[in-house]
Amino acid sequence: MADGSVNPGPLPPGWRVFCGKLEPINTLEGAEARGESIYGACYADGCKRSQQFHLAFLRREGLTDFELNKLERLYRCHRIDWTCDFKIKRDPPTPRLTLGMLHDRPGVKVRLLCETPGCAGKVEISAKGMAHQLQARGVGDRATRVFDVPGLVGPCKVCSQKRWTAQVAWPDPDGAGRGRSKRIGRQGD
Ligand SMILES: [Zn+2]
Ligand SMILES: [Zn+2]
Repeated sequence: MADGSVNPGPLPPGWRVFCGKLEPINTLEGAEARGESIYGACYADGCKRSQQFHLAFLRREGLTDFELNKLERLYRCHRIDWTCDFKIKRDPPTPRLTLGMLHDRPGVKVRLLCETPGCAGKVEISAKGMAHQLQARGVGDRATRVFDVPGLVGPCKVCSQKRWTAQVAWPDPDGAGRGRSKRIGRQGD
């Protein structure tokens, strides 16, 4: 089966394909496209600074491609009497991506990988199939977030442990596994 021949349709806004799997675009614009709010706070002794980032404002200022980890460095306290501990937080902490958002996407699979050292346990199933399985057991449905699935499924068939992590396998847009695509899901960029 040639990967390049399946067309899964447009990427969810704020996500890109990297090495054949979906990953969040970690820029201000990516966070905004996913509907996240971004705030930061310093937890160093003597500093109670917190900062809410207004993503639409920053986008209008031209900071669309600004990476969140750089924002963290930029907003550190410039003091010499303590080390700043300014950290960026997202709400929700894990990017929102539901099984329903991945329904009817040819070639797209929810992939569970077993994290037990030495275990090669792996499950790949369509998002729709996963939603049906969860629904049959009364623990989820198409509104379930992909990254919550590891806590809702049974143990690994190989090692009998429950140490899943979830990925979303997405056919590479170039069909060549290069994973360079960077699309935000916003018109006109
Ligand atoms: Zn600080
Ligand atoms: Zn396992």
